[in-house]
Amino acid sequence: MKPEVIVIGAGFAGSVMAERYARDGGKRVLVLEKRAHIGGNMYDYIDENGVRRHQYGPHILHTNSREVIDYLSQFTDWYPYQHRVLGLINGVVAPIPFNLTSIERSFPKEKADRLKQLLIDAYGMEKKVPILQLRQHPNPELNELAEYIYEHVFLYYTMKQWGQTPEEIDPAVTGRVPVHISWDDRYFQDTYQMMPLHGFTGIFENMLKHEKIEVRLNTDAKSCLKVDLEHHRILFEGEEFTGPVIFTGAIDDLLDYPLGELPYRSLEFEIQTHPDTYQQAATVNYPTPAAQHPFTRITEYKLLMPASEQPQATTIAIELPMAYHHDAPRGNIPYYPIAREDCRRQYEAYCELIRPISNLLLLGRLAEYKYYNMDAIIAKALQCYNSGKLR
Ligand code: FAD
Ligand code: UDP
Repeated sequence: MKPEVIVIGAGFAGSVMAERYARDGGKRVLVLEKRAHIGGNMYDYIDENGVRRHQYGPHILHTNSREVIDYLSQFTDWYPYQHRVLGLINGVVAPIPFNLTSIERSFPKEKADRLKQLLIDAYGMEKKVPILQLRQHPNPELNELAEYIYEHVFLYYTMKQWGQTPEEIDPAVTGRVPVHISWDDRYFQDTYQMMPLHGFTGIFENMLKHEKIEVRLNTDAKSCLKVDLEHHRILFEGEEFTGPVIFTGAIDDLLDYPLGELPYRSLEFEIQTHPDTYQQAATVNYPTPAAQHPFTRITEYKLLMPASEQPQATTIAIELPMAYHHDAPRGNIPYYPIAREDCRRQYEAYCELIRPISNLLLLGRLAEYKYYNMDAIIAKALQCYNSGKLR
């Protein structure tokens, strides 16, 4: 097949574009994927315990976008799922995000009652307050509460996850998990929360199953495609390719690091099997010092499955954050871009390098160097396609 569009990466960014160009645009699309499977970081499969394991960490669909749900519903049926997270907070197991129940579990009754009332008076019920904002509150008792939450929920977890304190990273990162003045103990409050009946991989299989889409697995784009920065063009199998090229991987890697390595955080998952249910919630966070628990969270994958399908035996994943380096034996997968001004500037310098190449589009969490959730990247890909930018 001679492609009219080349998509690099079969995660959501790449698969939405491939699906749209083929099904809506009638174009022949070639998808190059360096891994042995489609789905990018969303890839999941049924493991030896009968558990649907998410190979690259737990993924839960939550969104306020009807457009995203309508789009995905073409490729899957759903089951309802609301994610709940517990945390080991100063020796006590309590809901995260830290909420009114967490206060009751953390303090003696009289003190807890006073703190709850102070919070409600200061902000109102159902409000979400980022921890860095709560720390600014002038009331001494609320300030003391903020320091408690800061230390026992955010500080050590963030140090483990990012190697930096909450003040050193973009406030939007800890703002993802604000203190919640509520009895609602769900991790997310979005309108739509559900999981695909045949896993996320099932969605990708259906998206990419099209006569005009060819997927080449185990194929690093660098083996057949070259970005010619000097002549502002793309070469595919030695010839100039003038159709749209959508790249969803790490741009520093594609170009072979002419401006140095962009920093990312990486993860490693220690997988364990247990004969029976392991913990009380699908995810339990360990916002404890690294010396006590070197990991950030444990996810028990069967608890993400419909109750009727959960097997007896269980698979857990213990999540260990670490620095990233592309050719290190460990930590060689770039999971998280780093939300910091200097990193952003380095990324933008890379964008400048490729700006004159008008048929190359960077799209996705790595390619745009942005901490996207899946719904945001699906919405962005749909918007890019609909805008007709590269057509
Ligand atoms: P990816 O899924 O990373 O896909 C990029 C693909 O490009 C990969 O398959 C890669 O192999 C391929 N590729 C890269 N370079 C090349 C190359 N040179 N040649 C060929 N192929 C290449 N979002 C949520 O909404 N809910 C969650 O609960 C959630 N949990 C998360 C948990 C973790 C631990 C992490 C890390 C992320 C989580 N996310 C979650 C975010 C979600 O994973 C991303 O938003 C989404 O997967 C991004 O899709 P993408 O296509 O941009 O990138
Ligand atoms: N966070 C924390 N303690 C927690 C949960 C989250 O300090 O118990 C902070 C931490 O900095 C983390 C960020 O909030 O990186 C975002 O958390 P989220 O659960 O959204 O992270 P993700 O699932 O994207 O890894």
